[in-house]
Amino acid sequence: MKKKIISGVLAIVTSMALIGCGTNTKTTSQNTKDDKLKIMVSIYPLKEFAEKIAGDKAEVTCLVPDNVEPHDYEPKTRDFEELTKGKAFIYNGLGMESWVDKVNDTLKGKDIIIVNSSEGVQVREEEGAVDPHSWLSLKNAEIQSKNIKDTLIKLDEKNKDYYEANYDNFKKELDDLYNEYKPKFDTLNKKNFITGHAAFGYLCRDFGLTQKSVENLFAEGEPTPKQLEDLVYFCKENNIKTVFSEELASPKVSETLAREVGAEVVPILTLESKEDDKDYIEAMRYNLDEIYKCLEKE
Ligand SMILES: [Zn+2]
Repeated sequence: MKKKIISGVLAIVTSMALIGCGTNTKTTSQNTKDDKLKIMVSIYPLKEFAEKIAGDKAEVTCLVPDNVEPHDYEPKTRDFEELTKGKAFIYNGLGMESWVDKVNDTLKGKDIIIVNSSEGVQVREEEGAVDPHSWLSLKNAEIQSKNIKDTLIKLDEKNKDYYEANYDNFKKELDDLYNEYKPKFDTLNKKNFITGHAAFGYLCRDFGLTQKSVENLFAEGEPTPKQLEDLVYFCKENNIKTVFSEELASPKVSETLAREVGAEVVPILTLESKEDDKDYIEAMRYNLDEIYKCLEKE
């Protein structure tokens, strides 16, 4: 019993230290039992996927800190050192981590598995650029989680059944959410919505929707007056009553646009960084629900 209490306390301390994704790595390494696998991931959604599947068998650390826009992120020397402490480094791929070659060079020759989690995802392009936002598709989340599950099994074969079971449960949650919203979106006539930056292309592909955005794929630069004018025209033409706003991408421009066309501003979650207490499924349910309400209304 005493042992149980101690490990419970340890688990609380560890999870408290883990709340700051990528920021409290020093404390976590002191508090973690040595038999736990150490897994490094690049961005926040991968931390969610890895934790879902690893359960209590691994300590997952995220390289990009909370509330940091990952498109602008560059790892520092300290981060590279941190990476070498893991058994695996899992990244999103599709160009999300422009610095990934540097990481590969650093980890070369070390006993660390490097995993491109989006291997197997059907890539989409927009204006000639590869769209990196694979995790915002429930279908892609299955593929990325499967790649993570296979990595965990490779590193820790004895817990294969545990990882398989966790993956199956998560896959069912993803499928259920998709199957709940697919028929709902199919019945709608309106398919266009406005968001902060072009992050929802894969989600749109899953559900037959179209996004228009204030910023581009990489959350670069605010729109020119001409682009803003076009957005205003688009909103009026399509009778858009909701403008989605992202905390990390030009929320002010979204507000201006909304004011201009008499629309309401509603937050949407890109999951690019940890912004609130919602887990992946809760955040995706929130997004789908808000997009559905917005289109239903128009
Ligand atoms: Zn983005």
